[in-house]
Amino acid sequence: MSALASGSPAKPAPPYLPLTRPTIDEATIAGVAEVLRSGWITSGPNVKALEAKLSEYCGGRPVRVFNSGTCTMEIALRIAGVGPGHEVITTPLSWVATSHVILEVGARPVFVDIDPVTRNIDLDRVEAAITPATRAIIPVDLAGLPVDRDRLYAIAKKHGLRVVEDAAQSYGATWNGKRIGALGDFVSFSFHPNKNVTTIEGGALVMNTEAEAKLAEQYRLQGVVRTGFDGMEVELVGGKFNLTDVAARVGLGQLPRIDEFNGQRRELARVYFELFGRPAARALGLQLPVADFTQTNWHMFQVVLPAGPRALKRAEVMAQMQAAGIGTGVHYPAIHLFAVYRRLGWNDGDFPLAEATCRSILTLPLFPTMTRAEAERVVDTLTAILTPHLTP
Ligand SMILES: *Cc1c(COP(=O)(O)O)cnc(C)c1O
Repeated sequence: MSALASGSPAKPAPPYLPLTRPTIDEATIAGVAEVLRSGWITSGPNVKALEAKLSEYCGGRPVRVFNSGTCTMEIALRIAGVGPGHEVITTPLSWVATSHVILEVGARPVFVDIDPVTRNIDLDRVEAAITPATRAIIPVDLAGLPVDRDRLYAIAKKHGLRVVEDAAQSYGATWNGKRIGALGDFVSFSFHPNKNVTTIEGGALVMNTEAEAKLAEQYRLQGVVRTGFDGMEVELVGGKFNLTDVAARVGLGQLPRIDEFNGQRRELARVYFELFGRPAARALGLQLPVADFTQTNWHMFQVVLPAGPRALKRAEVMAQMQAAGIGTGVHYPAIHLFAVYRRLGWNDGDFPLAEATCRSILTLPLFPTMTRAEAERVVDTLTAILTPHLTP
């Protein structure tokens, strides 16, 4: 029976709530149009300006931008001289790019299990994984919650290791009052549309010296070094990783808004904690993220669903959320259990804590323009889906 026939007004379905959505303002769109009309659309003045702004944000350290946050890490490893015969320590709970770059340079990833509370690499287990072949560590700030930089760099220093911080998710986060990127060794950011600031696609690498930055420029553009009007030399084999000026202009419109965006994300995270603290939601037995409101940039809000024989499967939860008009995501499946890694020797049970989290972790919608009412809808819907499956 239609709503009309029943005499009651039709209640419109609420609009689809996506997992995330970039905030691009009209001034940025106008700026992009200007770049497109300017006659210079690939790497040029906007790339230079973006690098200058990022460097300023990162305490004056050298910064170069690229067309992804994946190639930035690969280039950092190349600059550090990491290659065949070397090992690099990282986490199995990340986007697969984090360990792919280790394979790309010919080295071997060495996974270390996670701390299930922070969901980041368990620094207590890192030293046991160090061998004479270890050259670097790639920690990941999952969901923007920073890995303990004091302990990380104490380990790196003690063992003479380089660090490539996979800070793809933690732009605008801080450690002990210092911005991520303003401290440490190599720091890699991603500006994918899902990240807290975007260049559509893109990334940035923070380095230590101008010599490293020069090498980064070479790896970014086929190894070419130009001198004078007609001089050109090629010192190394580089790829094609440069960012366009169109993309850089998007980034220039995004950077000034990072604290505003992250403030809105933080407030929504607080709302989620409040709503998940209500009795009906508490009864669900979800594992919530670390309630940190000073350092994390709240890139994502992730819950771990209850496990057990009676528990509803994650795919079913996601399907029911989708049917209710709410997008959810999985960040991430355990890297070492992908076919390419299994073929290299990894197997089920190698990293039980990461595997348990990866099986049941679920990312809920969170983005700057989301409203409190939308967060309520998420929690109410999830509660309605999970409550019938509670273990008595
Ligand atoms: C997004 C992301 C990357 C890759 O960044 P791209 O810009 O998409 O190449 C790497 N690591 C983590 C943890 C990420 O979230």
